Amino acid sequence: MSAAPPPRLPSVDALLRDAALAPLLAQYGRSSTTAAVRHVLDGLRPQLRAGTLQAEQVQADTLATRVQQTLQRTCGARLQPVFNLTGTVLHTNLGRALLPQEVVDSVAQAMTSPMNLEYDLQDGGRGDRDDLVNDLICQLTGAEAATIVNNNAAAVLLTLSTLAVGREVVVSRGELVEIGGAFRIPDIMGQAGCRLVEVGTTNRTHARDYGHAISEQTALLMKVHTSNYAIQGFTHSVPDAQVAALAHQAQLPMVVDLGSGTLIDMQAWGLPHEVTVAQTIASGADVVTFSGDKLLGGPQAGIIVGRKDLIARIKRHPLKRALRVGKLTLAALEATLRLYQHPETLAQRLTTLRLFTRAASAMQAQAQTLAPILQAALGADWSVTPSPMSSQIGSGALPVDSLPSYGLVLRPNSKTASVAQLQERLRQLPRPVIGRAQDGALWLDLRCLEEAEQAAFTAPWAIQKQ
Ligand SMILES: *Cc1c(COP(=O)(O)O)cnc(C)c1O
Repeated sequence: MSAAPPPRLPSVDALLRDAALAPLLAQYGRSSTTAAVRHVLDGLRPQLRAGTLQAEQVQADTLATRVQQTLQRTCGARLQPVFNLTGTVLHTNLGRALLPQEVVDSVAQAMTSPMNLEYDLQDGGRGDRDDLVNDLICQLTGAEAATIVNNNAAAVLLTLSTLAVGREVVVSRGELVEIGGAFRIPDIMGQAGCRLVEVGTTNRTHARDYGHAISEQTALLMKVHTSNYAIQGFTHSVPDAQVAALAHQAQLPMVVDLGSGTLIDMQAWGLPHEVTVAQTIASGADVVTFSGDKLLGGPQAGIIVGRKDLIARIKRHPLKRALRVGKLTLAALEATLRLYQHPETLAQRLTTLRLFTRAASAMQAQAQTLAPILQAALGADWSVTPSPMSSQIGSGALPVDSLPSYGLVLRPNSKTASVAQLQERLRQLPRPVIGRAQDGALWLDLRCLEEAEQAAFTAPWAIQKQ
Protein backbone atom coordinates (compact mmCIF):
# COMPACT_ATOMS: atom_id res chain seq x y z
CA MET A 1 0.00 0.00 0.00
CA SER A 2 1.60 3.25 -1.11
CA ALA A 3 1.25 6.48 0.86
CA ALA A 4 -1.18 9.11 -0.51
CA PRO A 5 0.63 11.74 -2.58
CA PRO A 6 1.41 14.87 -0.50
CA PRO A 7 -1.24 17.61 -0.85
CA ARG A 8 -0.35 20.18 -3.50
CA LEU A 9 -1.06 23.85 -3.87
CA PRO A 10 -4.24 24.64 -5.79
CA SER A 11 -3.63 25.20 -9.49
CA VAL A 12 -3.77 28.66 -11.01
CA ASP A 13 -6.94 27.71 -12.88
CA ALA A 14 -8.65 26.35 -9.78
CA LEU A 15 -7.86 29.51 -7.89
CA LEU A 16 -9.15 31.72 -10.67
CA ARG A 17 -12.46 29.82 -10.50
CA ASP A 18 -12.66 30.25 -6.73
CA ALA A 19 -15.41 32.59 -5.57
CA ALA A 20 -12.94 34.49 -3.39
CA LEU A 21 -11.17 35.79 -6.49
CA ALA A 22 -14.28 36.81 -8.41
CA PRO A 23 -14.28 40.44 -7.16
CA LEU A 24 -10.58 40.77 -8.02
CA LEU A 25 -11.16 39.43 -11.53
CA ALA A 26 -13.95 41.96 -11.96
CA GLN A 27 -11.84 44.84 -10.71
CA TYR A 28 -8.42 44.13 -12.19
CA GLY A 29 -9.17 41.87 -15.19
CA ARG A 30 -8.02 38.34 -16.07
CA SER A 31 -4.43 38.93 -17.15
CA SER A 32 -3.36 41.01 -14.15
CA THR A 33 -5.14 38.67 -11.71
CA THR A 34 -3.58 35.59 -13.31
CA ALA A 35 -0.13 37.15 -13.03
CA ALA A 36 -0.76 38.02 -9.38
CA VAL A 37 -1.96 34.46 -8.59
CA ARG A 38 1.21 33.01 -10.18
CA HIS A 39 3.32 35.48 -8.21
CA VAL A 40 1.69 34.51 -4.91
CA LEU A 41 1.93 30.75 -5.58
CA ASP A 42 5.58 31.07 -6.66
CA GLY A 43 6.26 32.92 -3.43
CA LEU A 44 4.97 29.95 -1.37
CA ARG A 45 6.94 27.19 -3.10
CA PRO A 46 10.28 27.70 -1.32
CA GLN A 47 8.52 27.43 2.07
CA LEU A 48 6.75 24.24 0.96
CA ARG A 49 10.02 22.73 -0.21
CA ALA A 50 11.73 23.70 3.04
CA GLY A 51 8.88 22.11 4.98
CA THR A 52 8.10 25.32 6.90
CA LEU A 53 4.63 25.39 5.34
CA GLN A 54 2.20 22.53 4.59
CA ALA A 55 0.09 22.72 1.47
CA GLU A 56 -3.06 21.86 3.40
CA GLN A 57 -2.54 24.96 5.55
CA VAL A 58 -2.93 27.16 2.48
CA GLN A 59 -6.53 28.32 2.24
CA ALA A 60 -8.13 29.87 -0.82
CA ASP A 61 -9.23 32.95 1.12
CA THR A 62 -5.77 33.67 2.53
CA LEU A 63 -4.40 33.27 -0.97
CA ALA A 64 -7.05 35.70 -2.18
CA THR A 65 -5.89 38.27 0.39
CA ARG A 66 -2.31 37.94 -0.83
CA VAL A 67 -3.42 38.17 -4.44
CA GLN A 68 -5.34 41.32 -3.60
CA GLN A 69 -2.28 42.86 -1.91
CA THR A 70 -0.19 42.01 -4.96
CA LEU A 71 -2.76 43.53 -7.29
CA GLN A 72 -2.98 46.68 -5.21
CA ARG A 73 0.78 47.01 -5.34
CA THR A 74 1.09 46.41 -9.07
CA CYS A 75 -2.15 47.95 -10.39
CA GLY A 76 -3.01 50.57 -7.76
CA ALA A 77 -2.23 54.24 -8.30
CA ARG A 78 1.28 55.28 -7.30
CA LEU A 79 0.30 58.91 -6.96
CA GLN A 80 -2.06 58.92 -4.01
CA PRO A 81 -3.50 61.36 -1.52
CA VAL A 82 -1.79 61.77 1.86
CA PHE A 83 -2.44 63.88 4.95
CA ASN A 84 0.09 66.69 5.16
CA LEU A 85 0.56 67.14 8.90
CA THR A 86 4.17 68.29 8.52
CA GLY A 87 3.30 71.86 9.40
CA THR A 88 4.70 73.05 6.07
CA VAL A 89 1.74 74.29 4.07
CA LEU A 90 3.41 74.62 0.66
CA HIS A 91 5.36 71.36 0.85
CA THR A 92 7.22 70.80 -2.42
CA ASN A 93 7.47 67.03 -1.89
CA LEU A 94 3.74 66.83 -1.17
CA GLY A 95 2.69 68.82 -4.22
CA ARG A 96 2.66 72.45 -2.97
CA ALA A 97 -0.57 74.45 -3.39
CA LEU A 98 -3.96 72.71 -3.17
CA LEU A 99 -6.48 73.97 -5.70
CA PRO A 100 -9.94 75.15 -4.69
CA GLN A 101 -12.82 73.02 -5.97
CA GLU A 102 -14.06 75.81 -8.26
CA VAL A 103 -10.61 75.85 -9.87
CA VAL A 104 -10.70 72.07 -10.23
CA ASP A 105 -14.09 72.40 -11.96
CA SER A 106 -12.55 74.72 -14.54
CA VAL A 107 -9.74 72.24 -15.14
CA ALA A 108 -12.25 69.39 -15.51
CA GLN A 109 -14.10 71.39 -18.14
CA ALA A 110 -10.89 72.07 -20.04
CA MET A 111 -10.16 68.34 -19.96
CA THR A 112 -13.48 67.24 -21.36
CA SER A 113 -14.51 70.01 -23.72
CA PRO A 114 -12.87 71.74 -26.69
CA MET A 115 -11.70 75.21 -25.59
CA ASN A 116 -10.65 78.43 -27.33
CA LEU A 117 -7.07 77.80 -26.23
CA GLU A 118 -5.51 79.46 -29.28
CA TYR A 119 -8.63 80.56 -31.09
CA ASP A 120 -9.86 84.14 -31.21
CA LEU A 121 -13.62 84.10 -30.67
CA GLN A 122 -13.93 87.70 -31.96
CA ASP A 123 -12.58 87.22 -35.45
CA GLY A 124 -12.28 83.44 -35.74
CA GLY A 125 -8.54 83.70 -36.30
CA ARG A 126 -5.65 82.20 -34.46
CA GLY A 127 -5.25 83.32 -30.84
CA ASP A 128 -2.39 83.39 -28.36
CA ARG A 129 -2.77 81.17 -25.29
CA ASP A 130 -1.05 83.75 -23.06
CA ASP A 131 -3.88 86.20 -23.88
CA LEU A 132 -6.25 84.11 -21.76
CA VAL A 133 -4.56 85.37 -18.59
CA ASN A 134 -2.51 88.35 -19.79
CA ASP A 135 -4.98 91.11 -18.86
CA LEU A 136 -5.80 89.53 -15.52
CA ILE A 137 -2.14 89.25 -14.52
CA CYS A 138 -1.44 92.82 -15.67
CA GLN A 139 -4.39 94.06 -13.59
CA LEU A 140 -3.10 92.25 -10.50
CA THR A 141 0.57 93.20 -10.88
CA GLY A 142 0.60 96.53 -12.68
CA ALA A 143 2.86 95.01 -15.34
CA GLU A 144 2.47 95.81 -19.05
CA ALA A 145 2.54 92.20 -20.27
CA ALA A 146 2.83 88.60 -19.13
CA THR A 147 3.74 85.17 -20.45
CA ILE A 148 3.40 81.74 -18.83
CA VAL A 149 5.77 78.77 -18.79
CA ASN A 150 5.99 75.42 -17.02
CA ASN A 151 7.50 76.61 -13.72
CA ASN A 152 9.56 79.45 -12.31
CA ALA A 153 12.83 77.68 -13.05
CA ALA A 154 11.77 77.71 -16.71
CA ALA A 155 10.76 81.36 -16.38
CA VAL A 156 14.25 82.31 -15.19
CA LEU A 157 15.93 80.16 -17.86
CA LEU A 158 13.82 81.63 -20.66
CA THR A 159 14.25 85.21 -19.44
CA LEU A 160 18.03 84.92 -19.21
CA SER A 161 18.29 82.99 -22.50
CA THR A 162 16.41 85.76 -24.25
CA LEU A 163 17.84 88.86 -22.63
CA ALA A 164 21.40 87.88 -21.72
CA VAL A 165 22.77 85.15 -24.01
CA GLY A 166 26.49 85.59 -24.60
CA ARG A 167 26.66 88.48 -22.15
CA GLU A 168 27.02 89.18 -18.44
CA VAL A 169 24.45 89.17 -15.67
CA VAL A 170 25.28 90.99 -12.44
CA VAL A 171 24.00 89.35 -9.21
CA SER A 172 24.83 89.93 -5.54
CA ARG A 173 26.85 87.17 -3.86
CA GLY A 174 24.22 87.11 -1.11
CA GLU A 175 21.57 86.00 -3.64
CA LEU A 176 23.20 83.03 -5.39
CA VAL A 177 20.51 80.68 -4.17
CA GLU A 178 20.07 76.98 -4.53
CA ILE A 179 16.44 75.88 -4.43
CA GLY A 180 15.55 72.26 -3.61
CA GLY A 181 15.77 69.99 -6.64
CA ALA A 182 19.07 71.42 -7.89
CA PHE A 183 17.94 74.78 -9.19
CA ARG A 184 21.02 76.94 -8.68
CA ILE A 185 21.32 80.43 -10.02
CA PRO A 186 24.93 79.95 -11.25
CA ASP A 187 23.94 76.76 -13.11
CA ILE A 188 20.89 78.36 -14.71
CA MET A 189 23.14 81.16 -15.93
CA GLY A 190 25.37 78.56 -17.59
CA GLN A 191 22.38 76.85 -19.21
CA ALA A 192 21.10 80.18 -20.49
CA GLY A 193 24.49 80.88 -22.07
CA CYS A 194 25.26 83.96 -20.01
CA ARG A 195 28.12 84.79 -17.66
CA LEU A 196 27.47 85.40 -14.01
CA VAL A 197 29.22 88.40 -12.50
CA GLU A 198 29.06 88.17 -8.72
CA VAL A 199 29.21 91.38 -6.77
CA GLY A 200 29.51 92.24 -3.09
CA THR A 201 30.07 89.64 -0.41
CA THR A 202 27.83 87.00 1.12
CA ASN A 203 26.48 89.35 3.76
CA ARG A 204 26.94 92.80 2.27
CA THR A 205 26.37 94.22 -1.19
CA HIS A 206 26.33 97.96 -1.90
CA ALA A 207 25.10 100.08 -4.79
CA ARG A 208 28.70 100.84 -5.78
CA ASP A 209 29.36 97.08 -6.20
CA TYR A 210 26.71 96.94 -8.91
CA GLY A 211 28.04 100.21 -10.41
CA HIS A 212 31.60 98.90 -10.70
CA ALA A 213 30.45 95.65 -12.33
CA ILE A 214 28.62 97.29 -15.22
CA SER A 215 30.56 97.11 -18.49
CA GLU A 216 30.03 96.88 -22.25
CA GLN A 217 29.38 93.18 -21.71
CA THR A 218 26.57 93.61 -19.19
CA ALA A 219 23.15 92.42 -20.35
CA LEU A 220 21.19 93.11 -17.19
CA LEU A 221 21.22 93.49 -13.43
CA MET A 222 19.42 90.75 -11.55
CA LYS A 223 18.02 90.37 -8.06
CA VAL A 224 17.05 86.97 -6.70
CA HIS A 225 14.72 86.47 -3.75
CA THR A 226 16.62 84.59 -1.05
CA SER A 227 13.60 82.34 -0.66
CA ASN A 228 14.84 79.55 1.52
CA TYR A 229 17.35 81.28 3.77
CA ALA A 230 17.94 84.58 5.51
CA ILE A 231 21.23 86.33 6.02
CA GLN A 232 21.11 88.00 9.40
CA GLY A 233 23.41 90.16 11.46
CA PHE A 234 25.87 92.57 9.80
CA THR A 235 24.15 92.70 6.43
CA HIS A 236 23.38 95.09 3.63
CA SER A 237 21.56 94.65 0.38
CA VAL A 238 20.51 97.21 -2.19
CA PRO A 239 16.76 97.88 -2.51
CA ASP A 240 15.11 96.95 -5.80
CA ALA A 241 14.43 100.59 -6.68
CA GLN A 242 18.12 101.50 -6.37
CA VAL A 243 19.29 98.53 -8.46
CA ALA A 244 16.65 99.44 -11.05
CA ALA A 245 17.88 103.05 -11.12
CA LEU A 246 21.48 101.89 -11.62
CA ALA A 247 20.40 99.58 -14.42
CA HIS A 248 18.34 102.26 -16.13
CA GLN A 249 21.19 104.80 -15.94
CA ALA A 250 23.21 102.31 -17.95
CA GLN A 251 20.22 101.63 -20.26
CA LEU A 252 20.00 98.06 -19.02
CA PRO A 253 16.98 96.12 -17.79
CA MET A 254 16.62 94.99 -14.19
CA VAL A 255 15.24 91.46 -13.71
CA VAL A 256 13.92 90.07 -10.42
CA ASP A 257 13.43 86.37 -9.71
CA LEU A 258 10.87 86.73 -6.97
CA GLY A 259 10.52 82.97 -6.36
CA SER A 260 7.24 82.65 -4.52
CA GLY A 261 5.73 85.92 -5.63
CA THR A 262 2.59 87.01 -3.82
CA LEU A 263 -0.14 89.08 -5.45
CA ILE A 264 -1.54 90.40 -2.18
CA ASP A 265 -0.31 92.28 0.85
CA MET A 266 -0.24 89.33 3.23
CA GLN A 267 -0.18 91.60 6.27
CA ALA A 268 -3.77 92.55 5.49
CA TRP A 269 -4.60 88.98 6.55
CA GLY A 270 -2.39 89.11 9.63
CA LEU A 271 0.42 87.17 7.94
CA PRO A 272 4.15 87.98 7.78
CA HIS A 273 5.21 90.60 5.29
CA GLU A 274 6.30 89.52 1.83
CA VAL A 275 7.02 91.94 -1.01
CA THR A 276 4.35 91.72 -3.72
CA VAL A 277 4.82 91.39 -7.46
CA ALA A 278 3.10 94.77 -7.90
CA GLN A 279 5.54 96.44 -5.49
CA THR A 280 8.47 94.91 -7.34
CA ILE A 281 7.16 96.21 -10.67
CA ALA A 282 6.46 99.60 -9.09
CA SER A 283 10.03 99.79 -7.79
CA GLY A 284 11.27 99.72 -11.36
CA ALA A 285 11.93 96.06 -12.20
CA ASP A 286 11.60 95.51 -15.95
CA VAL A 287 10.95 91.76 -15.75
CA VAL A 288 9.75 89.75 -12.73
CA THR A 289 9.45 85.96 -12.58
CA PHE A 290 7.51 83.94 -9.98
CA SER A 291 5.82 80.59 -9.35
CA GLY A 292 2.16 79.69 -9.83
CA ASP A 293 2.01 77.08 -7.07
CA LYS A 294 3.71 78.83 -4.17
CA LEU A 295 2.09 81.80 -2.42
CA LEU A 296 -0.17 82.43 -5.41
CA GLY A 297 -1.96 79.17 -4.59
CA GLY A 298 -2.53 78.00 -8.17
CA PRO A 299 -1.15 75.32 -10.49
CA GLN A 300 2.54 74.67 -11.17
CA ALA A 301 3.56 77.42 -13.58
CA GLY A 302 6.18 80.10 -14.09
CA ILE A 303 4.85 83.59 -14.63
CA ILE A 304 6.95 86.21 -16.38
CA VAL A 305 5.69 89.79 -16.20
CA GLY A 306 7.17 93.11 -17.20
CA ARG A 307 7.82 95.60 -19.97
CA LYS A 308 5.88 94.93 -23.12
CA ASP A 309 8.90 94.99 -25.47
CA LEU A 310 10.90 92.60 -23.27
CA ILE A 311 7.99 90.17 -22.81
CA ALA A 312 7.45 90.23 -26.59
CA ARG A 313 11.09 89.23 -27.11
CA ILE A 314 10.80 86.48 -24.49
CA LYS A 315 7.69 85.11 -26.20
CA ARG A 316 9.50 84.94 -29.55
CA HIS A 317 12.41 82.85 -28.21
CA PRO A 318 12.24 79.25 -29.51
CA LEU A 319 12.55 77.92 -25.95
CA LYS A 320 9.14 79.45 -25.17
CA ARG A 321 7.50 76.84 -27.39
CA ALA A 322 9.30 74.09 -25.49
CA LEU A 323 8.45 75.51 -22.07
CA ARG A 324 4.86 76.63 -22.66
CA VAL A 325 2.01 75.36 -20.50
CA GLY A 326 -0.98 73.26 -21.52
CA LYS A 327 -4.67 74.07 -21.34
CA LEU A 328 -5.12 72.42 -17.95
CA THR A 329 -2.57 74.73 -16.39
CA LEU A 330 -4.09 77.77 -18.06
CA ALA A 331 -7.59 76.79 -16.97
CA ALA A 332 -6.37 76.38 -13.38
CA LEU A 333 -4.33 79.58 -13.47
CA GLU A 334 -7.15 81.69 -14.87
CA ALA A 335 -9.67 80.35 -12.37
CA THR A 336 -7.21 80.95 -9.50
CA LEU A 337 -6.47 84.50 -10.62
CA ARG A 338 -10.22 85.23 -10.92
CA LEU A 339 -10.49 84.62 -7.16
CA TYR A 340 -8.10 87.54 -6.64
CA GLN A 341 -10.58 89.85 -8.36
CA HIS A 342 -12.71 89.44 -5.25
CA PRO A 343 -10.32 89.98 -2.32
CA GLU A 344 -13.14 89.99 0.27
CA THR A 345 -13.75 86.28 -0.28
CA LEU A 346 -10.17 85.27 -1.04
CA ALA A 347 -9.37 83.88 2.42
CA GLN A 348 -12.38 81.55 2.23
CA ARG A 349 -12.01 80.50 -1.39
CA LEU A 350 -8.27 80.27 -2.01
CA THR A 351 -7.19 77.09 -0.24
CA THR A 352 -3.63 78.18 0.58
CA LEU A 353 -4.74 81.48 2.07
CA ARG A 354 -7.47 79.70 4.04
CA LEU A 355 -4.85 77.35 5.48
CA PHE A 356 -2.42 80.17 6.26
CA THR A 357 -5.11 82.08 8.12
CA ARG A 358 -6.76 79.21 10.03
CA ALA A 359 -7.52 80.26 13.60
CA ALA A 360 -5.29 78.59 16.19
CA SER A 361 -8.44 78.06 18.31
CA ALA A 362 -9.98 75.90 15.55
CA MET A 363 -6.85 73.74 15.40
CA GLN A 364 -6.75 73.56 19.20
CA ALA A 365 -10.34 72.30 19.34
CA GLN A 366 -9.47 69.74 16.71
CA ALA A 367 -6.44 68.59 18.70
CA GLN A 368 -8.64 68.09 21.79
CA THR A 369 -11.07 65.96 19.76
CA LEU A 370 -8.42 63.87 18.07
CA ALA A 371 -6.08 63.27 21.02
CA PRO A 372 -8.24 60.62 22.80
CA ILE A 373 -8.91 58.81 19.50
CA LEU A 374 -5.21 58.51 18.68
CA GLN A 375 -4.34 57.73 22.29
CA ALA A 376 -6.78 54.81 22.33
CA ALA A 377 -5.44 53.48 19.04
CA LEU A 378 -1.77 53.76 20.02
CA GLY A 379 -2.11 52.40 23.54
CA ALA A 380 0.12 52.86 26.57
CA ASP A 381 3.38 52.88 24.57
CA TRP A 382 2.63 56.41 23.44
CA SER A 383 1.39 59.59 25.03
CA VAL A 384 -0.63 61.81 22.75
CA THR A 385 -0.70 65.45 23.85
CA PRO A 386 -2.41 68.44 22.26
CA SER A 387 0.21 71.14 21.96
CA PRO A 388 0.88 74.53 20.40
CA MET A 389 3.42 74.37 17.58
CA SER A 390 4.44 76.48 14.65
CA SER A 391 3.81 75.93 10.97
CA GLN A 392 5.86 77.16 8.08
CA ILE A 393 4.60 78.61 4.84
CA GLY A 394 7.14 76.55 2.90
CA SER A 395 8.33 76.31 -0.68
CA GLY A 396 10.91 78.96 -0.17
CA ALA A 397 8.53 81.59 1.09
CA LEU A 398 9.33 83.44 4.31
CA PRO A 399 11.88 80.90 5.61
CA VAL A 400 12.27 82.50 9.04
CA ASP A 401 8.65 83.38 9.71
CA SER A 402 6.30 80.88 11.28
CA LEU A 403 2.57 80.71 11.85
CA PRO A 404 1.28 79.88 15.35
CA SER A 405 -0.45 76.53 15.07
CA TYR A 406 -1.78 73.63 17.10
CA GLY A 407 -1.46 69.89 16.85
CA LEU A 408 -0.62 66.62 18.55
CA VAL A 409 2.72 65.48 19.93
CA LEU A 410 3.10 61.69 19.94
CA ARG A 411 5.83 60.81 22.43
CA PRO A 412 7.11 57.27 23.08
CA ASN A 413 6.60 56.00 26.63
CA SER A 414 8.50 52.76 26.36
CA LYS A 415 11.89 51.61 25.10
CA THR A 416 10.22 49.55 22.38
CA ALA A 417 8.19 52.43 20.91
CA SER A 418 10.12 54.12 18.12
CA VAL A 419 9.27 57.31 16.27
CA ALA A 420 10.67 55.93 13.03
CA GLN A 421 8.47 52.83 13.31
CA LEU A 422 5.41 54.92 14.06
CA GLN A 423 6.16 57.10 11.03
CA GLU A 424 6.36 53.96 8.92
CA ARG A 425 3.07 52.70 10.31
CA LEU A 426 1.42 56.02 9.50
CA ARG A 427 2.78 55.88 5.96
CA GLN A 428 1.07 52.51 5.52
CA LEU A 429 -2.41 53.76 6.38
CA PRO A 430 -4.93 53.71 3.50
CA ARG A 431 -4.30 57.43 3.26
CA PRO A 432 -0.76 57.90 4.56
CA VAL A 433 -0.19 60.45 7.33
CA ILE A 434 3.01 62.47 7.11
CA GLY A 435 4.13 64.27 10.26
CA ARG A 436 7.50 65.56 11.38
CA ALA A 437 9.95 63.99 13.80
CA GLN A 438 11.30 66.46 16.29
CA ASP A 439 12.84 66.20 19.77
CA GLY A 440 12.32 62.44 19.98
CA ALA A 441 8.59 62.69 19.24
CA LEU A 442 6.28 62.73 16.24
CA TRP A 443 4.53 66.07 15.70
CA LEU A 444 1.25 66.18 13.80
CA ASP A 445 0.46 69.79 12.91
CA LEU A 446 -3.27 70.12 12.26
CA ARG A 447 -3.15 73.31 10.16
CA CYS A 448 -3.65 71.38 6.91
CA LEU A 449 -6.33 69.03 8.26
CA GLU A 450 -9.44 71.01 7.52
CA GLU A 451 -12.69 70.07 9.26
CA ALA A 452 -14.07 68.53 6.06
CA GLU A 453 -11.25 65.96 6.11
CA GLN A 454 -11.33 65.13 9.79
CA ALA A 455 -13.67 62.16 9.43
CA ALA A 456 -11.45 60.61 6.74
CA PHE A 457 -8.47 61.10 9.04
CA THR A 458 -10.05 59.45 12.09
CA ALA A 459 -11.67 56.49 10.28
CA PRO A 460 -8.63 54.13 10.30
CA TRP A 461 -7.79 55.05 13.90
CA ALA A 462 -11.24 54.11 15.09
CA ILE A 463 -10.79 50.71 13.43
CA GLN A 464 -7.34 50.12 14.95
CA LYS A 465 -8.79 50.71 18.38
CA GLN A 466 -10.59 47.34 18.43
C1 LIG B 1 11.01 78.32 -5.96
C2 LIG B 1 11.97 79.21 -6.64
C3 LIG B 1 12.38 78.96 -7.95
C4 LIG B 1 11.89 77.78 -8.70
O1 LIG B 1 10.52 77.88 -8.94
P1 LIG B 1 9.70 76.59 -9.44
O2 LIG B 1 8.34 77.13 -9.72
O3 LIG B 1 9.77 75.60 -8.35
O4 LIG B 1 10.39 76.11 -10.68
C5 LIG B 1 13.28 79.83 -8.51
N1 LIG B 1 13.76 80.89 -7.85
C6 LIG B 1 13.39 81.15 -6.58
C7 LIG B 1 13.98 82.35 -5.89
C8 LIG B 1 12.48 80.33 -5.93
O5 LIG B 1 12.11 80.58 -4.68
